[in-house]
Formats: sequence, C-alpha cells, structure tokens
Amino acid sequence: MQDADDLLDPQSLVIHGDLDWDNPEANDTALAPAIWPASTYAARSSAEFAAMANQPRHPRYYARYGNPTQERCERLLARLEGMEAALLMSSGMGAMSAALLAHARAGDHVVAQTSHYMGTAKLLTDLLPGMGVEVTLVDQRDPQAFSKAARKNTRMIVAETPSNPTLALTDLAAVAGFASSRGITTLADNTFASPINQHPRDFGIDLVLHSATKYLGGHSDLIAGVVCGSRAAVEKIWERSIVLGSNVSPFNAFLLLRGLRTLPMRVARQNENALALARFLEAHPAIARVHYPELASHPQHELAKRQMKHGGGVLSIELKNGDGDEQGFRAAQRFVAALKLARNAVSLGGVETLVVHAASMWEASLTPEQMRRAGIAPSLVRIAVGLENAADLQADMRRALSFSGREE
Ligand SMILES: *Cc1c(COP(=O)(O)O)cnc(C)c1O
Repeated sequence: MQDADDLLDPQSLVIHGDLDWDNPEANDTALAPAIWPASTYAARSSAEFAAMANQPRHPRYYARYGNPTQERCERLLARLEGMEAALLMSSGMGAMSAALLAHARAGDHVVAQTSHYMGTAKLLTDLLPGMGVEVTLVDQRDPQAFSKAARKNTRMIVAETPSNPTLALTDLAAVAGFASSRGITTLADNTFASPINQHPRDFGIDLVLHSATKYLGGHSDLIAGVVCGSRAAVEKIWERSIVLGSNVSPFNAFLLLRGLRTLPMRVARQNENALALARFLEAHPAIARVHYPELASHPQHELAKRQMKHGGGVLSIELKNGDGDEQGFRAAQRFVAALKLARNAVSLGGVETLVVHAASMWEASLTPEQMRRAGIAPSLVRIAVGLENAADLQADMRRALSFSGREE
C-alpha cells in the first residue's frame, strides 16, 4: 500500500489517511476517533491472551504498549512522511530518547550536530556519554563533516534541519548517501520543516522524528513526539520506549489527529506569513539581519531550494544596534515586550505567533562564549509565525521596532 499512499497529496492524506486501507472491515465507522482510556484489555480466551501478549505493538493489550486511538493517528503520521510505520510517543524528547537508546549502546559512536534542540543537545553531551556512548558534534553546514567524523563503531548520525535558532541547514542527501554506504542509521529531526515542507525519506534518511507538540498538533494544547521509519526500525524503538515509559496518552493522540486534519492548510499560511514577514523585516532600517531559508540572503539558500518546498514558519532576526553588547540585549527585550499580537513564549508551530529572545532564554545554560559559537547574537529574536493576518503582524512588529531603540 506504500506506493498507493505516495500518490495522495498531503491534503487528502490528512483527511483520510488514518484509515486502514488494506483491511477496510477493521475501520471504525465513527468519523472522529474514539478516545480509548483503558489501561488494560481483557482476552476472551487463553489463546487470544497469548496472541495479545506476544504480538509486538498490539493496540489492545496494555496501554503502555499502545492503544487504538494512537494506532489510528500513527497510520496517518507514517503516510505523511512516506514511511512504512510510525511510533507516537509522550513528547519529542521521549521520542528522541527512545530512538537514540534503541541504537546506541556502550562502546558505540554517534555523530550529531553542534546545533540541536537544547534537550537533544543535553541527551547527546550528558546522558549518552555517561552511558559509555561516544558522541562527536560537527558543524552541520559542512556536508563532509559527518563522514569525516565517522569511525568504525559509528552506529548513528543525528541531523536536525533547519536548526534552532539561526535556521542552519543540513544537506540530507549528502549525509544519507555516505551513511547508507557504511550501514549507519540516520535520523533527521524534521520538526521545524514539518512533513509539508520537507521529506527526509526522499533523500535517503532512515528515521524521521518530530516534536508533534509543534506543527503537527498545531494548537499549543498537547505534548507528543513521533518517529517514522521502516516497520522493523520502528519496532526496535518501540521495544525501548515501553521500558522508558515514553508512551503517549490516548487523549493526546486524539488531539493530535484532530490537529493534523488542517496541517497542510496551516503550514501553507505559516509559510506565506513567514516569508512576507522575513522580507518586510529584511528591508526595515532597525534590523541588521534576518535568518530565513527562503531568503536569497540565507547562506544555504541553494540547499534550501533543493531540499525544502518552502522556508517554514520560523525565522530569526538581529537588531541593528545589537552586535556583541548590552545595548542589543536590551533593545531585543524592549522589542519583545512592546509586541501586542505576538506573544512572548517558547515553542512554535501553533496558530499564534510566538517570539523569544534567545539570549534571555539561555542566559543560565550557556556561557557568552558558547552563545557566540552557536551564532546567538545578544539581539537575536526568534519568531515562530502563526496564522494571523500578515499585515497585522507586520504592523505589530513595525510599532514594536520603533520602541526597541529607545532607552527607558
Ligand atoms: C520542541 C522540540 C523538540 C522537543 O520536543 P518536545 O515535544 O518538547 O519534547 C525536539 N526537537 C525540536 C526541533 C523541537 O523544536
């Protein structure tokens, strides 16, 4: 059924792709999925009990192993990424932990990026090394860096593109081409792009991960994560996730499926809004720099055109009086405080525009030198664009920028 699934546009998949097309009799006739709160399911015979207990990923056995609401949502998620299977978990970090711990054991080596989501970075630089897994971090902007860092015991390469907060890209085809010739498993965190803007499988990536909390859910009302891949690879991650306890709640699986119905329409609007805002801000006299893959000024714009359908909903800006000083830090804080529509909150991918001042967010966890190396200017503000009217968003930013230069 994989080939037939590929023929459907995402817009049709999100409406119908949660159904089992190989076994239509098994589908619930209720259009909206039922929420199955049961923690455990009774067998009708000892033979049925044995079958339930021994079949991996049985959706009606014990709810830490799965449940029917989750299964329905997973069918759609796998199809959206063009993969055989998906495993929905408690959070993006629950998914990342299960995926990494399924592949890397003491004595193994993992290659990852210097720039990752903060939780992933901690997993790679603290938890895994503490368990005897060696990790090498490379600059993702150099496509050769991954192969240069690989060793005999390299089991996995972790990529994240675009990455936070400067929207740096990883050349997925270059990474996957090298890794597959060496039998190394590749994982791409596709959260920022969403399945609408980027399909890592098309470039040969083995595992695709999302924080479903972001674009997939899309309404800032749930925490969940997902890994998509081959049936065998996903089953291996499931084996880990049931001992880690990173199972998703049935209610969150329900909410996620509800959110997914509008994913392509939401992301299309976020792409448009973000590009319009990026162009507007790039031309604004108070702005020194805009980071956005779809702008010609992005250092990896050519790669963005090869690998992404659109730039996505996240951009970041640096204010002009900013660089390297107190002044830029305070100007960014004043800008964020003066915004009326855009809310000052972490996360992204929801219906509302959110902004964060990166240097304030990471003040306690990164030294000024680490921030400089991560490309975080003191005045850098990340903007995760929502579904508001584009002109209203621009007016909000224009007004707030007129305050950013004024010392109180
Ligand atoms: C938010 C995020 C995560 C972690 O997801 P949670 O659902 O918060 O656990 C991982 N990767 C990226 C790129 C993210 O933005």
